[in-house]
Amino acid sequence: MTRVRLENVSKRFGKAVALEGVDLEICAGELFFLLGPSGCGKSTLLRLIAGLQEPSGGRIWFNEEDVTGLATQQRNAVMCFQSYALWPHMTVRGNVKFGLGVRGFGREEQSRRVDEVLRLVQMEGLAERRPNQLSGGQQQRVALARALAVRPRCLLLDEPLSNLDAKLRQEMRSEIRRICKTGQFTTIYVTHDQKEALSVADRIGLLRDGKLIQVGTPGELYHGPKTSWVADFIGHTNLLKGRVVGRCGEGVRVETGIGVIVAKGTVDRGQGSAGAEAVVVSVRPEQMRVVRGTEKAGRNRVSGRVVESTFLGEASEHVVEVNGERLRVICTPPMFGVDGEMVVEFDAEDVVVLSE
Ligand code: ATP
Repeated sequence: MTRVRLENVSKRFGKAVALEGVDLEICAGELFFLLGPSGCGKSTLLRLIAGLQEPSGGRIWFNEEDVTGLATQQRNAVMCFQSYALWPHMTVRGNVKFGLGVRGFGREEQSRRVDEVLRLVQMEGLAERRPNQLSGGQQQRVALARALAVRPRCLLLDEPLSNLDAKLRQEMRSEIRRICKTGQFTTIYVTHDQKEALSVADRIGLLRDGKLIQVGTPGELYHGPKTSWVADFIGHTNLLKGRVVGRCGEGVRVETGIGVIVAKGTVDRGQGSAGAEAVVVSVRPEQMRVVRGTEKAGRNRVSGRVVESTFLGEASEHVVEVNGERLRVICTPPMFGVDGEMVVEFDAEDVVVLSE
């Protein structure tokens, strides 16, 4: 298994800076996601790790080996593209075998490896079909099998599910995880889809404008974002500007447009600092509860007017206006016929205080 380490990696295209000062360590056997908005540098970083492009600065290590100057084949990193790039005139078996022939493996070893990876991706029954006789999901499995057959030190996936419909995408998410974990491949997966990253990744690296902003498990990024941009990018959130106005037993009191909010602060998460400093408070829409009784007052309890309701299937989303601020509230199971006033509350543990 291979550990991948990037040391102060940068990439410029002429005067344009695509990546700047990226330091990152990806553990052996880890399923690591690079996530970020369009143009943030995800694919460039993947291409640098693959050896398809050279960094303008910095070094790339596979375990203790400096691979910065090595070509793709020498470093044995394999990239799977969005388009699958399967040979249309070859069968599934022929496609998977192709790279092994090029690399000079004997016939017996080729057959053994092809059988092994087709079993892994559950395509052994369709080995004699051609790509145009396969569904999108099956083609994706063949592309994965072809990449895995050469036993890469590092598997690189660039938006591998973007050509599939929503249902198949969801199915393939867990399939990719199963395949990578069963084979213990170090995998780096590029996407701009937060849900895909949150549901599949061991850890996620979040890129913005060529810089690595935060690295962590899905839970760490979701519940402990370091900035309001991260909080908003990783699932939607309610962001409220405020000022720390004091402490209470277990946390801080923050004055915001919807009133004083109590946040359970921990020093680790950068919370709990004293003084009237400007902060941003983040509360997730799904962490707000609708209060059905008549009691409107209470800690972290606010009352407002519902200005918009959307049925989402398994949940409903409501926009509640409180003192001119708009809060998004998600109710599971969905609420229908919500009109007029709504009282919502949230726990101090679910409030994240970020420096502005
Ligand atoms: P997307 O999600 O849209 O694919 P991305 O995060 O993968 O985006 P990159 O393709 O890595 O982004 O591009 C990062 C930046 O580098 C962009 O501003 C892009 O225009 C620029 N860039 C990428 N490749 C080249 C190139 N060959 N020449 C010049 N600029 C480039």
